[in-house]
Formats: sequence, structure tokens, C-alpha cells
Amino acid sequence: AKETGKARTVVYSVREGAAPGHDISLEAAMFSGVREGEFQLYFQPIVDARSRTIEGFETLMRWKHPTLGMVPPVRFIPIAETNGLINLLGAWALKAACMQLRQFEEVAGRELYISVNISPRQFRNDRFLEVLDDALALSGVPGSKLVLEITEGTLMVDPQHAETVLGAMTERGARIAIDDFGTGYSSLAYLKRFPISVLKVDRAFVKDLPGEAKDAAICSAVLDLAKHLDLSVVAEGVETEGQLAWLDDLGCHYVQGFLTGKPMPAHVALAALKEDLYTEFLPHEDRAHQP
Ligand code: C2E
Ligand code: MG
Ligand code: MG
Ligand code: MG
Repeated sequence: AKETGKARTVVYSVREGAAPGHDISLEAAMFSGVREGEFQLYFQPIVDARSRTIEGFETLMRWKHPTLGMVPPVRFIPIAETNGLINLLGAWALKAACMQLRQFEEVAGRELYISVNISPRQFRNDRFLEVLDDALALSGVPGSKLVLEITEGTLMVDPQHAETVLGAMTERGARIAIDDFGTGYSSLAYLKRFPISVLKVDRAFVKDLPGEAKDAAICSAVLDLAKHLDLSVVAEGVETEGQLAWLDDLGCHYVQGFLTGKPMPAHVALAALKEDLYTEFLPHEDRAHQP
């Protein structure tokens, strides 16, 4: 309701009596957005830090509302998580991501992988493994080309249950990545307990590299830990050549960030793969943000 402009006033208005911060109109707009096919997947390259070759993509959900324009995931994912819509959206995303990977590989003429975010509620859902099996079966993508991104928080809610689900995921060949590594409320013990393959170092530790001494210490300690535990590391939010060079020097093999490719629609990702273009030269998400 803070926004001005007619369309916004209508959609953002908070009905009286609603829980603070819970926007009923935005929630209603989400349901209609699902029906109208307003949700899309964008793809952000995960690249080899040295060669800048695209190794895979993270799928990131986008909601293009007809009048609000692009609604960011930080606004709609929490709502979907609260009302359960995330199970529907997440199942669609997983299936669509696997299908898209097929086309990416076809155009690239080589193997790639796809990384998909799994929210805490999806992870806890009884039917999650069914959804996963459907996505793999329908797309024909082997589980080994799928990375499932979960946060430390997801593991900590019910570690016993997490152990079972992670076991089932890895049985299917999928790799588990810890997203936003280092920012969750958890202990390192889970690295020992659970079958984790990838640490995605949060942008919070990357953005002030290489100048910030504490961030540099944290990143180098994480890289060292990962090396000894035989985990791979993806540095998130890499925006500068300086950050990339520093990470590469310290043995960080993979990076993901605006420097090497912003989240982009599938057709732009396909163009990048086809030409083997350095994605810097491709259209940026900012331009796609215009409604
Ligand atoms: P995440 O999984 O940690 O995704 C990385 C976020 O960092 C993305 O934001 C991406 O656009 C942004 N990012 C990547 N490189 C840079 C960079 O160099 N600089 C900056 N400033 N940002 C960068 P996005 O797409 O807005 O997504 C935010 C969060 O929403 C995601 O964080 C994830 O937690 C959630 N999310 C997005 N898509 C999905 C989805 O399909 N399912 C679920 N469950 N969650 C999703
Ligand atoms: Mg992620
Ligand atoms: Mg992340
Ligand atoms: Mg993050």
C-alpha cells in the first residue's frame, strides 16, 4: 500500500485484519498468475572460474505480473511457502528445469547440469520424491545431472527426516548443494552426517572480496574445508574480475554471478550455448525487467 500509481494501489492494498506483512492481494494475484501462466524460469550460468565455460545453470523463478511487472522471488516465495503454493510451483519448476536441460545439452553438444532450489516446505512434503521421480522420468534426464539446492535451515528442522529424504535423493544420483552456505543457523556437524556434494558460498562473503580481510579469511577457510571433505564450491554473487581472480587463485573452481552471466530466459541461455559466447555480451536481466 506504500506504492503509488493506480494498478499498484489495487494489487498491493492490504486488507484490514490481515497479519502484518502478509499481503492478501498479492497472494490472490499469485493464484491467478499460476492459472494465467505468468510464472517462468530464468537460468543463471554456473561457470568454471578458470575457463569461464558454462558447466550448468541454476533455475530461478520469475513472476511477470501484467501490471506490476517483475515481482522478485523474495516477495513471492515466502507467500508461496506459507500457503503451500510452493509445492505446485516447485513441482512445475523441477519438471520444466529437467526438460529445459535436454534442449540446453542438445544445442551445446555436451553435458551440462541443472541446479534447482528446493524450499523447506517442498522438502518436507510427503509427495516430494514422487515429484522428483516424475520430473526425471518425464524428461529422461538422469538424476546425476540434477543438483538440488537446499539451505542449512531445511536440514535442521527435522534432521532425522532430512537424512531419509537426502538418502533417497542421492539414490537417484542427484547431488545435494547447500545454498547460502555460512548464513544459516546450524552446525558443521551436518557436513559429516548428510551426503552433501556442493557448497554454495553466500554472496554476503563474496561481495567485499578481495579487500575485506574477514570475508577473505572465511572464504579461504571454506575452500580449505571443502577440499578436505571432497566437496565442490560455487561462489555466489561474483560481480568483479577482482573477485573472480582472487577466488580462482584460492582454488575455487566454480562461480556464479552477474560477471559471468545474469539470470536469463531460456532462449538467451540457448544463444550463449550455441555461440559459446561469453555471456557478458548477452542481454541482461535488467532489460527483461520492463513489463
Ligand atoms: P538463491 O538460490 O541463493 O539464488 C541466488 C540469487 O542471487 C538470485 O536471486 C540471483 O539472481 C542472485 N544473484 C546471482 N548473481 C548475483 C550477483 O552477482 N549479484 C547479486 N546482487 N545477486 C546475484 P533471485 O533470482 O532474486 O532469487 C532469490 C532467492 O529466491 C533465491 O536465492 C532462492 O532462495 C529463491 N528462489 C528463486 N527461485 C526459486 C525456485 O524456483 N524455488 C525456490 N524454492 N526458491 C527460489
Ligand atoms: Mg539457489
Ligand atoms: Mg544461493
Ligand atoms: Mg544466496
